Amino acid sequence: ITPLSTVTFEGRFARELGELAVPWRAEEVPEPQLLVLNEPLAVELGFDPAALESPAGVRLLVGNAVPGGATPVAQAYSGHQFGSFNPRLGDGRALLLGEIADAGGRLRDLHLKGSGRTPFARGGDGLAALGPMLREYVVSEAMHALGIPTTRALAVVATGRRVRRERLLPGAVLARVAGSHLRVGSFQYARATGDLGLLRRLADHAVDRHYPDAASAEHPHLALFEAVVAAQATLVAQWMLVGFVHGVMNTDNMTISGETIDYGPCAFMDAFDPATVYSSIDERGRYAYRNQPVAAEWNLARLAEAMLPLFDEDQDRAVGLAEKSLGGFAGQYSAAWTAGLRAKLGLPRELGDDVVSALTDDLFALLQANHVDHTSFFRNLGAAARGDARPARDLVLDLQAFDRWAERWRAQGPDPEIMDRTNPVYIPRNHLVEEALAAAGDGDLDPLGRLLEAVTAPYDERAGLERYAAPAAEDFGPYTTFC
Ligand code: AMP
Ligand code: MG
Ligand code: MG
Repeated sequence: ITPLSTVTFEGRFARELGELAVPWRAEEVPEPQLLVLNEPLAVELGFDPAALESPAGVRLLVGNAVPGGATPVAQAYSGHQFGSFNPRLGDGRALLLGEIADAGGRLRDLHLKGSGRTPFARGGDGLAALGPMLREYVVSEAMHALGIPTTRALAVVATGRRVRRERLLPGAVLARVAGSHLRVGSFQYARATGDLGLLRRLADHAVDRHYPDAASAEHPHLALFEAVVAAQATLVAQWMLVGFVHGVMNTDNMTISGETIDYGPCAFMDAFDPATVYSSIDERGRYAYRNQPVAAEWNLARLAEAMLPLFDEDQDRAVGLAEKSLGGFAGQYSAAWTAGLRAKLGLPRELGDDVVSALTDDLFALLQANHVDHTSFFRNLGAAARGDARPARDLVLDLQAFDRWAERWRAQGPDPEIMDRTNPVYIPRNHLVEEALAAAGDGDLDPLGRLLEAVTAPYDERAGLERYAAPAAEDFGPYTTFC
């Protein structure tokens, strides 16, 4: 145990919000096998990576060795799932081990997913299959490297147990790190209990952990709500700018911190198409690429409803305040989106928003009509800013339309340096993720390692990684994921 005792677990959530925390233990894993460990993240948390690789460390990573001070709990939360409210969701197959102060003094949750049934498991088996846990590892680490706020992946451990899905699959536990696991659904749950003291304590806890400046505002809880609105507006704009489709934007999968959470049937868009949906369970396209800003705003309206009693004793006044604060979302989103597009196209700061919008509207219509790969196009456009239009032009069928657009764009003097810092070369492309997960299922972790190497330095083009920058072959076909 000694090498692991460098880290102190705090049971802050469990202590301060006991009504939302059910003390629980992970299921025993007889033969855990560590598959991937995020060494830099381990170090950031104060762990000695070698200690985490030891048998005692691996037992910690599946929840079978509970470190001193840790109080593993299943968290209670509610959630709107595809629009309908479920008052009792909660961690059905996950546990919060506790919080750890990282190298920068910031509290981080250490959380396990796939650690066995809890009182919130309902009909579920409490387990996770290896493939989806590795997908979360790769995609969340790619998002972090892209500079997008997200939960992180510390490790994936194979359990040696089979998990029954459509077929029998190898099981795994993901160790996940987050600013916190407070969700919109946490507030919905607290509100539904009718205990205003609990709701207030939850809001105070969220202020303290994520938005300490709100504490000194005139209305701290309204300031908290506004901070969440702003964080989510910029987060979703960042998703949209890299073509990320979350897949299941239910209110239980939206954080208070503004970190992306709960990577299930998520994916990055290949050919640009606003209607893109990847999740097999999203039959009506509620969480399609183009709907994500609206879905976020809808979820924030549910957060406002849950927080109403905190805004004002007079509920009519509270509604007025909430509406005004939520009204900030559209402007914050479009400011982040336009600033991001400006950088993607390398356009100068002085250029008016209307010119940027006209250029990008026409560009997106062109990309959609020509089924152009989103990531490759923007990256290749950097060469066009340097005078070589071919790499971008070759991706487009309608060459005249491209040339007309490119002439207008180049006339604005785009800066290729900014473009290269903004447009990634490597994203976790769907066919590469599938290839890596399939190989890992057969015991070969090399493709996963190479994919991680590419996507964790996404802006830095390197020789030998060409296939990680290329779109899928035509025969890859339409892509769907499940969680
Ligand atoms: P998600 O779609 O991953 O956000 O999960 C929605 C809810 O279902 C959460 O309460 C999860 O804890 C729960 N859940 C998902 N999969 C399982 C499972 N295999 N066993 C138990 N609960 C689960
Ligand atoms: Mg969830
Ligand atoms: Mg999930």
